[in-house]
Formats: sequence, C-alpha cells, structure tokens
Amino acid sequence: MSVTGLCQVCENATATYGCQRCGRAVCEDHWNDGVGACTACVQGRQQ
Ligand SMILES: [Zn+2]
Ligand SMILES: [Zn+2]
Repeated sequence: MSVTGLCQVCENATATYGCQRCGRAVCEDHWNDGVGACTACVQGRQQ
C-alpha cells in the first residue's frame, strides 16, 4: 500500500496510512492503530 503525499490532518508529515473510513492519508501520529482508522474518525472516543 503506497500512500503518497502529506498527512491530511496535520499537513506536516509524510502520510503512511490510508484511512478506509474517510479516505484520508495520515501520518503515524494521526493514525489509531487500535481502531484502524485516523484520529479524525475516532476523535471523541479515544481510550
Ligand atoms: Zn499527521
Ligand atoms: Zn478517517
């Protein structure tokens, strides 16, 4: 899976994950591995 470009949340880091819920490409900091979605999708329901 190659995700190119910058994280669409912070626009300050290379995107390494693709969220299947919203389609955003996000960096490690904005990826919730436990949920398998970006932080924008899980915000408000974090652990
Ligand atoms: Zn980010
Ligand atoms: Zn998302």
